[in-house]
Amino acid sequence: MPKPTQAQTRRLQASLLDILKSLGAKLDHMEESVLLADQDSASDDSDSGNGANSREFQLGLIQNEDEILQEVRSAFKRLELGTFGRCSACADWIPIRRLESLPYASYCIGCQEKSESGELHLDD
Ligand SMILES: [Zn+2]
Repeated sequence: MPKPTQAQTRRLQASLLDILKSLGAKLDHMEESVLLADQDSASDDSDSGNGANSREFQLGLIQNEDEILQEVRSAFKRLELGTFGRCSACADWIPIRRLESLPYASYCIGCQEKSESGELHLDD
C-alpha cells in the first residue's frame, strides 16, 4: 500500500478533529443526563428499577464513546510520531479508503479481520 500523501494526512487529521469535537459534545450531554438520573432516583425511589436500567444503558454508551475517544487520541499520537496510517500489527500502510471512512483505524482490514476471527491477538 502507498503511504498517504501529506494532503491526505491533513484531511484525515481534520476529520479526527471533527470526531474529537463531536465526541466531546456528546459526552458532556450524556454525562449531564446521567447526573440528572442520579438526582431523580435519590428523590424518588418508587421506580428506581427503571432508573437503574436506563442509567446502566447510558453508562454503556459512554464507555463505547470513550473507547472511540481513546482510538482518536491514539491516532493523534501516531500523527505526532509519524506512524499514522500504518497498521499497528503488520506495519503496512492502511489503504486510504479505509482511513477516509475510519480515520482512527489502527489496523489494516486484513489484521482487523484476523483479530475479529481470533486468529490474531491485537494488543496495544
Ligand atoms: Zn495489518
